[in-house]
Amino acid sequence: MKTTLFRQHGGPEVLEYTDFPTPEPKPGEVLVRLRVAALNRMDVMVRDGWPGLNLDLPHINGADGAGEVVALAPPLPPGDGPEARAGLQVGDHVVINANLGCGECDYCLSGRDNMCRDWHLLGETVRGTYAEYVSLPARQLYKLPADFDLHKAAAAALVYQTAWHSLITRGKLQKGETVLIVGAGGGVNTASIDIAKYSGAQVVVVGSDAQKLEKAKTFGADILIDRSKFENWSKAVFLVTDKQGVDVVVDNVGTTFMHSLRALKKGGRLLTVGNSGGPKFEIDNRYIFAKQLSIIGSTMSNLADFKTVMDLIVTGVLEPALDRSYPLKDAAAAQERLWMGENFGKITLDIG
Ligand SMILES: [Zn+2]
Repeated sequence: MKTTLFRQHGGPEVLEYTDFPTPEPKPGEVLVRLRVAALNRMDVMVRDGWPGLNLDLPHINGADGAGEVVALAPPLPPGDGPEARAGLQVGDHVVINANLGCGECDYCLSGRDNMCRDWHLLGETVRGTYAEYVSLPARQLYKLPADFDLHKAAAAALVYQTAWHSLITRGKLQKGETVLIVGAGGGVNTASIDIAKYSGAQVVVVGSDAQKLEKAKTFGADILIDRSKFENWSKAVFLVTDKQGVDVVVDNVGTTFMHSLRALKKGGRLLTVGNSGGPKFEIDNRYIFAKQLSIIGSTMSNLADFKTVMDLIVTGVLEPALDRSYPLKDAAAAQERLWMGENFGKITLDIG
């Protein structure tokens, strides 16, 4: 099969468009011919590598993808149940759930597969979707309507499940609440705007790029704060909320936590699924106990949330933002655009 892989960690120059053996589906797996992959910042971090990351090189990036079923591997082992792939047939269009639980541990069996004891993320610890084929357990696939746009499906899968699990399942967002989203451009943030509006919340977005803020507005944001105009943007949040503060903050930057804690109402929740500004920073604990705040971490989602959010995507209730699409062989240029933050919405790869 054709793929864009890397044989050693490094910059975009290590990506190589080449041939690689097509995966053989194991029992219970489904072989998918990918048509579209979508990029995530994680792809670049995996390509660069980090201490302790021990991959079976060459590695293939990519958590998100959509395509069609080309083979179903029998026989199914016990525990993977025929029901797991009921309804899937050769030719069906599917989108991939990159959150790989083992399907057998106590967490997986209680529906918390994003806490799996043997958890993997497609494209991070195992070879991913920058390729013509991928083979996965049937439970990782969501069957799409035949005419649904595969770019939208691939673009939605990781960021919408992540935002849904954080805002709805973990964060218990309620109608009428106010949500502050820190950052205007990232995939999880745009998905968070969409989901928060769907939930009936008011959305405040703080960002530093005027163009991205305007796009956030077209995407549903109610109030925009340009942080380049404020030394302390948490004060600006108070001003636009009648000095109330917000009920919920979505902060996937990390180094902005002090501003976020200040911007919260008493009893507010700070939701986080990542730390694009780096993993370590100082916070003042007095805000947490005196205002009785909650800091709620989340990662990816579970199978049930994935189905819920994809049902809303394919019916058009939620609408992922799409940026540009590149041919698979130009994955390096696509990753550069993503890493430089030049995109609004998801960058995709056309696999053909
Ligand atoms: Zn498990």
